[in-house]
Amino acid sequence: MKVVGGLVDRMGNILARSVTQAHAEEQPSVVIDAIVETYESLLAESEINKSNLVGLGLGFPGNTNGPAGIVLESSNLPDWNNYPLRDLLSERISLPVALDNDANICAVGEYRFGAGQGVEHMCYVTFSTGYGIGIIINGQIYTGQIGTAGELGHVVIDIDGPLCTCGKRGCIMAYASGIGISRMAYERLDEAGADHLRQLVAKRQQDEAEKRIPAEWVVESAQQGDLVAQEILQTAGYYGGVGLSMIVQVLNPELIVVGGGLVKAGEWLLEPMMAALYEHTQVESRDFIQVKYWVLGDDLGVLGAAAQVFEAFEK
Ligand SMILES: [Zn+2]
Repeated sequence: MKVVGGLVDRMGNILARSVTQAHAEEQPSVVIDAIVETYESLLAESEINKSNLVGLGLGFPGNTNGPAGIVLESSNLPDWNNYPLRDLLSERISLPVALDNDANICAVGEYRFGAGQGVEHMCYVTFSTGYGIGIIINGQIYTGQIGTAGELGHVVIDIDGPLCTCGKRGCIMAYASGIGISRMAYERLDEAGADHLRQLVAKRQQDEAEKRIPAEWVVESAQQGDLVAQEILQTAGYYGGVGLSMIVQVLNPELIVVGGGLVKAGEWLLEPMMAALYEHTQVESRDFIQVKYWVLGDDLGVLGAAAQVFEAFEK
């Protein structure tokens, strides 16, 4: 697990950056050590006095109960189940800590520093390896009863569909994610029309000892004219757009901000996404919805964690 950290001021300027690798992510204590190391190197590099810090924000890649400061589970690593990460970390560094999952952290980041400035009700959609949303209602993150609101990626849209990482079938994420794109690429690799993708996968998997098919390879093949790669991205985008229509139908926000690595896939994915949103949303809602792409990009994790601290401890 890579721990990426930044020291951020109230205006959203990143004053210092640091990255630490935790080599045994199944052990929470090793990850805490890596977080503390990142924090200390940021303090040392920036020469800022600790008394000026408001707190430490933490986006965690797994299910969390943000308000309780607990990691509920992380990618089948049993030691993380119900782990009180926030309070243990706060004790170590003697600072308030705000913890939440990645999607919620990103939502707060775009709300405070990015595309969502000035709105009251918005959702941030992570369209990357996975698919999930962070929900902001009346300017506040909405986490639900135990913190797991926004798991839109695991809403079932096809009860006989492909197996999802969560064990269910036909979740949105089984199509609209890097994981879904990889699955579809494997399934369709032998088809006529997948020549470029097939050759690229054979070569790269040999050169890079890579067992998966990363979404970037599918995007590259689509751009080179591979018909199957183009269809796979269209399918991923379309199902992602069905997810957007669900957001509009259920929450009626002012704004949806779409971010994550798959935004870089461009028109192959984004056009069918917008078409599906339009097709599956009732007329009276869709005319009022704004969709924007993230503006904070690769800095969103760091800025979102900082935004969470300012939102939590300055009010
Ligand atoms: Zn699922």
